[in-house]
Amino acid sequence: MAIREDVLVVGGGIAGATAALAAAETGAQVRLISHKKSTLRQASGLIDLLGAVVEDDPASEPSGPVADPFEAVDRLPGAHPYNVVGVEGIREGLRIFDGAVGDAYAGAHTDRNALVLTHGGTVKPTARYPESVAPGLASVEEKTLLVGFAGLTDFDATAAAAHLDATGVPFDVDGATVSFPVEFRDDALTTRLAKALDTDESNARERLAEAVDDHLDGHERVGFPAMLGDDERREVRAELEDRLGAAVFEIPTGPPSLLGLRLEDLLFDALDEAGVRIASGNPAVGYETDGGRIESVLVDRRGSEVPYSADEFVLATGGLVGKGIDSDRESVTEPIFGCHVPHPEDRYDWSYPEAFGAHAFARFGVVPDDDLRPTDASGEAEFANLRAAGGVLGGADTAREKSAAGVSLATGAYAGRRAGENATGETAVEEATR
Ligand SMILES: Cc1cc2nc3c(=O)[nH]c(=O)nc-3n(C[C@H](O)[C@H](O)[C@H](O)COP(=O)(O)OP(=O)(O)OC[C@H]3O[C@@H](n4cnc5c(N)ncnc54)[C@H](O)[C@@H]3O)c2cc1C
Repeated sequence: MAIREDVLVVGGGIAGATAALAAAETGAQVRLISHKKSTLRQASGLIDLLGAVVEDDPASEPSGPVADPFEAVDRLPGAHPYNVVGVEGIREGLRIFDGAVGDAYAGAHTDRNALVLTHGGTVKPTARYPESVAPGLASVEEKTLLVGFAGLTDFDATAAAAHLDATGVPFDVDGATVSFPVEFRDDALTTRLAKALDTDESNARERLAEAVDDHLDGHERVGFPAMLGDDERREVRAELEDRLGAAVFEIPTGPPSLLGLRLEDLLFDALDEAGVRIASGNPAVGYETDGGRIESVLVDRRGSEVPYSADEFVLATGGLVGKGIDSDRESVTEPIFGCHVPHPEDRYDWSYPEAFGAHAFARFGVVPDDDLRPTDASGEAEFANLRAAGGVLGGADTAREKSAAGVSLATGAYAGRRAGENATGETAVEEATR
């Protein structure tokens, strides 16, 4: 049976989820297809809007940290995706995000960036952060103890505390390493440790509090790597706070990132609630077109190509990491629709000699017109009914400027709303005032 929707979103990361939610708000019937899990399981779970301004000039250093992303937007290079959607588009993305995650996230009370402690002992400007991270903000001047676990090499609490101290944070900070109260293999994943706290295996919560108590010594708050429970995370943190008599917070970690996984769950719950149909596990590999419009996206299901038809399409397949942009020794491509991805001909110009420099590849991606439609080499929209969102868009060095999730939210919200409006013939405003 042919599958047909108003809007088809390709990609299940922050950009695809936001686009699908925005399209559903217009009353459109929406389907989201994704090949694999998104980069969220590696990501910190933080929503960075803009932490630094990065010029086009590869030799220039990022200027930051940015205190108010909304004030800094007009200092971004012209090709930046934020310049297509504008400040209103950024606010729309945040509105959809805040609605989707509810009180699981903090930061919506202000336009200004919060400064979150990282597992490397630095401070990072971000716009939205999980509520379990909130008591650990650098702006809170409380004597702080960071606690790591023996065998968990990802987080060295003593080194992180020393590093934070050296950066001049306005509070005393110390580090301690304790043994996790339940024995695991050295290579056990944080998700396994979180489950042990969830189920209070072998009295894990009380024994953890006892181990930390020996180091408490007047510290007013205690930070752990983000693994304080999963389903029962609020209960776990509340019990530890109660037993320690101190505020307890989580510090975002590397992969597998529980905060990223939790965010993925929150977004997919919101998609379910919005009535978005979801199909995952198979890659989109091509498309069918009728002149300038896409008729359907072809999905490879065990060797046969199944068409998914729709009136409007959103490409949200991520950048070089998510596989939305592909490269070989010769060229850089967008593999599903073959959209134009400008790049220097000489491969040696794709990167900059310094490891943390302004690499050209960081900005590789499709080039949108003023309606977020990918354009061809002459600047014309590749297809009338295809918009792009998130990491697949070029023009921003989101890692250096700390804006990846923000760009995904803002462009996802814009692309999804426009796709929904075009498919249903209604504007979201009309829909909302009915
Ligand atoms: C290690 C790491 C840490 C990060 N930390 C932060 C951070 O601290 N703050 C922040 O703001 N952002 C962070 N990010 C960035 C953020 O997680 C996203 O990568 C970014 O917002 C881009 O999201 P996206 O939705 O465009 O793409 P992705 O998250 O890459 O998702 C792409 C989706 O498209 C699907 N897809 C790709 N090709 C196909 C195909 N052919 N057919 C069907 N589906 C396909 C993928 O399976 C996936 O579901 C981090 C990313 C990484 C990798």
